Amino acid sequence: MSHRIAVVGSGPAGLTFARVLQRHGHPVTVLERDPAPDARPPGGTLDLHEGLGQRALDKAGLLAEFQALSRPEGQAVRILDTDGTVLRDWQPRPDDRANPEIDRGQLRDLLLGPLDVRWGRDVAEVVPGDRDGVLVRFTDGRQETFDLVIGADGAWSRVRPAVSSVTPHYTGVTLIETSLDDVDTRHPDLARLVGDGSVAVYGVNRALVAQRNSGGHVKVYAQFRAPLDWHTNLDLSDVEAVRSSLSALFDGWAAPVLELLRHGTAFVPRPLHVLPVSHTWAHVPGVTLLGDAAHLMPPLGAGANLAMLEGAELAESIAAVSGSGELDEVVRVFEEQMWARAGRWAKHTTAGLERLVSADPAEALALFDEVQPS
Ligand SMILES: Cc1cc2nc3c(=O)[nH]c(=O)nc-3n(C[C@H](O)[C@H](O)[C@H](O)COP(=O)(O)OP(=O)(O)OC[C@H]3O[C@@H](n4cnc5c(N)ncnc54)[C@H](O)[C@@H]3O)c2cc1C
Repeated sequence: MSHRIAVVGSGPAGLTFARVLQRHGHPVTVLERDPAPDARPPGGTLDLHEGLGQRALDKAGLLAEFQALSRPEGQAVRILDTDGTVLRDWQPRPDDRANPEIDRGQLRDLLLGPLDVRWGRDVAEVVPGDRDGVLVRFTDGRQETFDLVIGADGAWSRVRPAVSSVTPHYTGVTLIETSLDDVDTRHPDLARLVGDGSVAVYGVNRALVAQRNSGGHVKVYAQFRAPLDWHTNLDLSDVEAVRSSLSALFDGWAAPVLELLRHGTAFVPRPLHVLPVSHTWAHVPGVTLLGDAAHLMPPLGAGANLAMLEGAELAESIAAVSGSGELDEVVRVFEEQMWARAGRWAKHTTAGLERLVSADPAEALALFDEVQPS
């Protein structure tokens, strides 16, 4: 097979795709906008499910390395009432490997391995239908042609317009992310509160979730329902102003819970956007999408998992292609399978977000009771 294949984006989807294709002996071009792997903070921790993300890593030959790096103890979940009462405290069994956590940076480095990513390649546009293949235009004016271009470039994909006119819409829920470093020595009480995994508190239309990453790092997410422009009168770079705005929003919650916000050093707003639950498109020869670019959904532990499995599955299908006419057919079949599975998860996570950040906090607890192992 000598197809010219490019994947746009070096997130979980793009890197898994490239690693698996390369494992099967096929060349692949990875185009990434960031100038370097560590150009920006990699983000929080991800739980990789046995049947999804871990299956993808197995296909990439990386499962053993993942098991050595990941944190099964990170599956611990504690739920508190807003007054600090512990409502639930789930601890994983010592042999539980269903959904271990891994830092995003560690996962990225694991997937990167020997891959030769072209950093600093900011794709502006993808134009299908050219006789010589699919044209990729970069923001610096350069352009290049491929037989197949895969958009794994996330929520605000620049590849997506080549197949679909749909754009993400706001869910009505915003996250404000902050973090604490060296928590075991600097904030031992908060370290105990968070435990080995995560602690979550659900109130009326708001929630506070703190998750342990490796190396004593804790990510804290304040979540609330608000219009997209809720911060019009707030300077988001003014740490004190954001902190006091959040304190007002979570007024009356137990002091130890509010301490999680008080010690945060920077606050990053993440308004949650999604694509429609069943986002599909009329197949376009030479272009397809993976991961968030195809099916952005609420962050309830599925997005990266799906992105990785899709990347691995598409790579395996492409690797099995022998004749030149087969490539397009393989992509078409893949899209049908991706849409069916992602549609189920999008429905599930959309309903989940409605229950987690809702007018009735008992709904959040009921959801955990349904999904946590007893
Ligand atoms: C707070 C939070 C917590 C989450 N927790 C979990 C979890 O526990 N488990 C889980 O499964 N999922 C989780 N998710 C969802 C998960 O982060 C995403 O679904 C996942 O990162 C999607 O992977 P991706 O490769 O499709 O896209 P991305 O991770 O967004 O990667 C896209 C890549 O494309 C690059 N790119 C973008 N535009 C261009 C361009 N024009 N040209 C070139 N490159 C470009 C970007 O720089 C980036 O490297 C969470 C999300 C959030 C917000």
